[in-house]
Amino acid sequence: MQLQVNTENARYLLNNGRLVAIMTAVYSLIWWGLFTPHYQSNSHMLWLVFMLVLSAAFYFFARYQTDFSSDAQPSSQLTRYFSLATSSGVLWGVGILLFMPELVGAERLLLVVLVGALLSLVVVPNLLSIRSFNGFSIPILLALLVSVVGGEKTELVAFLVLLVCWAQLNIVLRRAETLVKDNFSEGALNRVKALELEDSHAIMRRQSERDSLTGLYNRAVFEQTLSLHWRLSSRANTSLSLLLIDVDFFKPYNDHYGHVAGDQCLTMVANLFTEALQREDDIVARYGGEEFVMVLPNTDTKGALQVAARVRTLLAEAQLRHEYSAAASYVTVSIGVSCLIPVAQQSTKEIVDKADKALYRAKQLGRNQAVVAARGEV
Ligand code: GH3
Ligand code: MG
Ligand code: MG
Repeated sequence: MQLQVNTENARYLLNNGRLVAIMTAVYSLIWWGLFTPHYQSNSHMLWLVFMLVLSAAFYFFARYQTDFSSDAQPSSQLTRYFSLATSSGVLWGVGILLFMPELVGAERLLLVVLVGALLSLVVVPNLLSIRSFNGFSIPILLALLVSVVGGEKTELVAFLVLLVCWAQLNIVLRRAETLVKDNFSEGALNRVKALELEDSHAIMRRQSERDSLTGLYNRAVFEQTLSLHWRLSSRANTSLSLLLIDVDFFKPYNDHYGHVAGDQCLTMVANLFTEALQREDDIVARYGGEEFVMVLPNTDTKGALQVAARVRTLLAEAQLRHEYSAAASYVTVSIGVSCLIPVAQQSTKEIVDKADKALYRAKQLGRNQAVVAARGEV
């Protein structure tokens, strides 16, 4: 949260930094023009050059230090901004010490007034950093104090007025800073809340789509997906395949190894099913209990049998031990395959029923195999 506030702070300061740099450069030219009309000594010239160089440095710093990527710490930028503001203040102070002794009467007073203008110039851009404002203004006020002490009474009064203004500006800045920081904090908090809400929606959506044990899509998603592809395939006149997969002898597995092991076995088998699918549009879902279903759009019988073979090969490779199966020494499945070109007016039940019949036959034929539904079989 503090990081967010700091980032917003730094962004505000840097946005205004370029303006401050330009104004400082222009202002220093005005000072130089006003106070050295006849007498242009090297030291005055040097001061102007330093001022312009510093303004340029300030300008480029504000222009290019704008990388606020999520983990970049903006506090280093804030500190550099403060150093630049302070350096600028010191240089103005040097300017006052240079110019003031050479000026007389009204011109000296004019300089005090111009210092007031200079301070007001940087108030708004430094709204969110009192330390930068003071880093800038304190060296200037100190230099002015040194210059007016022992001078005329009016100069001293003007300086005191300036001091009161400066104190008041500090109070105003402190209030503005609190106000703006509160606003930033609230904004940042709202953004965090919005992100959390988005996350919880995603989690909820996932929970409503997935089977909690295996992580596969649940039956509702299967039914939606099937009717979607049913419509799409009938319109495109392409074949749609469905694989109904049932784990063989799973009751004895549960009875001997226990329910927990049974659950673990189902999860491992489900992962293998996911692995067996290679096309983006194919889906596998848990149909219920130890039965699973795959929907393969744009796939003919040959392709569906290839997927079925891949599933069986993966299971054979996995060798999940099952001593109580009459089909093999490891966990196997029977697969009912049905493939058809859907007719929009018919129900999706048709393809499921066909796969169910084929599955039944696969069981009858000894399990651990894939059987394709006969043409016209429902
Ligand atoms: P077949 O080869 O004919 O398919 O025999 P089977 O024993 O697999 O079939 P049956 O339908 O008789 O038994 C299915 C068993 O699957 C019943 C139940 O104990 C088990 N089962 C179903 N869902 C779960 C589950 O979520 N977790 C566990 N551990 N077992 C389950
Ligand atoms: Mg079953
Ligand atoms: Mg079974």
